[in-house]
Amino acid sequence: MDCIFCKIASGEIPSTKVYEDEQILAFRDLDPQAPTHVLLIPKKHISSADELNAENAAVVAHIFLVAKELAAREGLTNGYRIVNNCGEDGGQTVKHLHFHLLGGRKMAWPPG
Ligand code: 5GP
Ligand code: ZN
Repeated sequence: MDCIFCKIASGEIPSTKVYEDEQILAFRDLDPQAPTHVLLIPKKHISSADELNAENAAVVAHIFLVAKELAAREGLTNGYRIVNNCGEDGGQTVKHLHFHLLGGRKMAWPPG
């Protein structure tokens, strides 16, 4: 499958990994939008949040727990943001489920 995040998960495309286990991988975004900008992905391909179901959704809870640990490790004691862009209107550009962990600056709301 021609999916850049599957290739990052398999190691075919290099990335700056910050966490890895058998289910998920976290690595630094190539184009960081904040002092901390980490992407968390399931290793198994899921196209988007819209493809989640009762069988595959447990990995999302795992991703959130790891995101919390990484936020602490990155020193984000003043808060952080976890973002999922889903589909065309959501601004999703890579069609492999991922969560952005952003921190180290004050975030704007509402998002653009
Ligand atoms: P999306 O817009 O789909 O929510 O986010 C995709 C993110 O993946 C973007 O923030 C983009 O900078 C990042 N990205 C795209 N290609 C690569 C890559 O090859 N390596 C890394 N580390 N990040 C990437
Ligand atoms: Zn994929």
